[in-house]
Order: sequence, then C-alpha cells, then structure tokens
Amino acid sequence: MRELTFNKKIYYIVVWIIVAIMISGLLVDNPRFGRFEFGYIAHCILVVILSVCLLIYQRKSTGLLRLIIIIVSSVFFYTLFIFYPETFSTFIFLCFIPALSILYFDSKLFYFSLLFNFVSTASIFGFIIFFEKGHIYPHIEQDLIGNFANFIASQIIIYFIFYVTNAHIKRLQLYYEQIQQTERLKTTGQLAAAVAHEIRNPLTVVGGFLQLFEQDKRFSEDQKRHCTLMIDELKTAEQVISQFLTMAKPEKEKVTETVDVKVVLQSVTDLLYSYGLIHDKSIELKVNGDCMISANTIEFKQLLINLIKNAIEASEIGDIVQVTAESEKDFVVIKVIDHGRGMSKEEVATLGTPFYSLKSKGTGLGMMICFSIVEKYKGTIDFQSSMGQGTTVMVRFPSI
Ligand code: ADP
Ligand code: MG
Repeated sequence: MRELTFNKKIYYIVVWIIVAIMISGLLVDNPRFGRFEFGYIAHCILVVILSVCLLIYQRKSTGLLRLIIIIVSSVFFYTLFIFYPETFSTFIFLCFIPALSILYFDSKLFYFSLLFNFVSTASIFGFIIFFEKGHIYPHIEQDLIGNFANFIASQIIIYFIFYVTNAHIKRLQLYYEQIQQTERLKTTGQLAAAVAHEIRNPLTVVGGFLQLFEQDKRFSEDQKRHCTLMIDELKTAEQVISQFLTMAKPEKEKVTETVDVKVVLQSVTDLLYSYGLIHDKSIELKVNGDCMISANTIEFKQLLINLIKNAIEASEIGDIVQVTAESEKDFVVIKVIDHGRGMSKEEVATLGTPFYSLKSKGTGLGMMICFSIVEKYKGTIDFQSSMGQGTTVMVRFPSI
C-alpha cells in the first residue's frame, strides 16, 4: 500500500525541525555532554543515522529505508530511555513508537513495530522487576503494574488508530481505482463509437472486393488463398467493431423488460449449438423452475452468448458445456460450466480488462461487456476456475 505523499516543502521543514530537536538534545543541558561514554556516543551516532535516513527518504522512498527508519528510531528511543534514566518522560516515547509506522501506511511494518516494541518494553519491565529494583528507574518501579497497564493501553489505542486509518485509506484507494476503471471504460466507449463508424464502411468495401477477387479466375490459387486470409482478418476487425458498438449504443435504445431466462437460454443455446458442433463440442441446458428477471433481452443474450462462447472455446474436442439456471431466494442463478483449460488466479483477476485475450483471434472485449451488463442490472458474476480442470461462471440476477 502506498503511503501518503507529503508535500515536499512541508516534509523537509518537519524533518529539519526534528533534526534540530535531536541535535539540541545532544548539546543543550545534556548531563552526559562532553563525556565520551558509550551511551552518549551511541546517541550521537543514532541522531546522525536517523537524520540522514529521514532526509533521503523523500528522494528514495523504498520499503527497506522505511524499515531502517523504524528500527533506528526505535533503537534511538530505547537508547534515550536506557542512558537517560533520570528523564522519566522518555518512557512516553516508548509507548508511541508503533505510531511512527502509521505514517507510512505499511501494515507489515506496523505489526512488526508493535511486536518489537511489546517484546522490548516487556523485557525492560522484567529487568526492572528482577535486577534493577528501582535504583535507576524509581518512577517506573514505584507503580510497576500501573505503568505496564498504561503501556498496554497506549498500544491498544495506537492499534485502534491504525486500524481505523488503514481501513479508511484502503476504502479510498479502492474507490479511486473503481473511478479510474469506469472513466477508462467511458472514454474507450466514446472513442470506439466514433472510430467504429468511420472504419466500418471502408472495411465493407475492401471485404467486398476481396470476395470478388477470391472468385476471380484470373487469380492464381496462391493469390486466392491470400484473399481468404485477408477476408478472415477483416472479419475479426468487424467483430471488434460490432462488440464495441453494442457497448456504445445509446441507453434509450435498451429498454428494460421482463425476461424469461428459460426462453432466452433456449434460443441462445440453439444459436450456439451449431457453433459448438463445428468444434465438436456440445451444450447441455438445464433450467429449474420459473426464472424471471428484469433486463434488456438483447443485452442479456449478449451476456450469455459471450459466456457460453468462451466456455466452448476453452473446452477440448468432445467436451460438454453445461448451462444451468435456477431460482434461489431472491436471485436467479445461471451457471456456465466447462471442463476446459481453466484459468489461473491472475487470469481471473485480469478478466474484464479491454483487449485482454489469450486467443489468437480473440477480441478481448467479451468479458468487459459481460461485466458492464451484469453491473447495470445489479447482478454479480463470479468465477471458479482451476488450471486444466475447467471453469464455472456463476451469474446472479435479482429475480422478479
Ligand atoms: P476473447 O474471448 O475474445 O478472448 P473475452 O473477454 O471473452 O475475450 O475473454 C478474455 C480471455 O479470458 C480469453 O481470451 C480467455 O483466455 C479467458 N477466458 C474467458 N472465459 C474462459 C473460460 N471459460 N475458460 C478459460 N479461459 C477463459
Ligand atoms: Mg470471448
């Protein structure tokens, strides 16, 4: 998940203020100042490392650098706590360490930080109970249980803040992605409508002449074969355009009516029956009970044709494609089941992306159209697929 992109200027101002505070902590009224003890040297080194990391983070915001910043700042606060025991407020910093990683919106980093902090602070409490016995940290030792309870409470509060912010950010991100997808579809639709009309006519003219050449005796067999190839390619182009045009058709032409799923399924399977036969595959239809939905018949047909065609194309020679429909509570459930090549999880996730096709003659528009039709009538579409086993596409429409 991406973290918040800070305004560059504000980021540097804040970081420089933090650096200044850290340096003043080293120099101003520091009881260890000037004495070259381990604690003071460690403190100096950590200030330098942390400052450098924070300053370069804006330019090189990698996951590794985030991890380093979180670890170094945790070690820094623990160093303060351990080497400046008289400053009791350093304990407050320990409570807030996991809050730092909320800034990066990185869940893994947050859980790591939370665990790291819990283990470290628990060890410190253990040390105070068993060895130190209040000589160095009297303010903690005097009310051990109270302090520990406060620490736990602070971790819970921080977790809660993280949980709420994270959920909110995830929702926002999903929302933006959806908007982008819709926008993309809208622009492709509009563009297609304009381009399709312009391209269709020349294609028809070229196709017509090619058909004439194909039958012309003056051409050699070789040349005729080329013509057939060209005609085939033109047909594919024509298909792309038709698919696109149906998407871009004005809404007013698509009236919503009561559709008897059984009747439509029968006519679609009849239509595709010969298509399956050509490829030596058959279609089996089973409709249970009354299945009535509210949709535009042509669009609903288009949805089913696309799904069944895909199932036939994915199947092996001799396979059967099963199409079932039944009423289930408030829904009509239609399943298109094939035992063909199946899809991987990634392939299923990519379905619906314009022009995504693994077929040499595919348009990659079928699923996109299916998705938009299902969405329009407040239905759902789900895929269960495994490589080499087959695919079940389940479409649900609200029944009437
Ligand atoms: P096209 O059929 O023109 O390739 P679609 O949008 O209909 O375009 O399908 C996109 C891709 O999804 C197909 O190329 C195919 O790889 C995959 N696909 C769709 N349905 C199935 C299915 N039932 N089994 C296996 N793969 C499928
Ligand atoms: Mg298809």
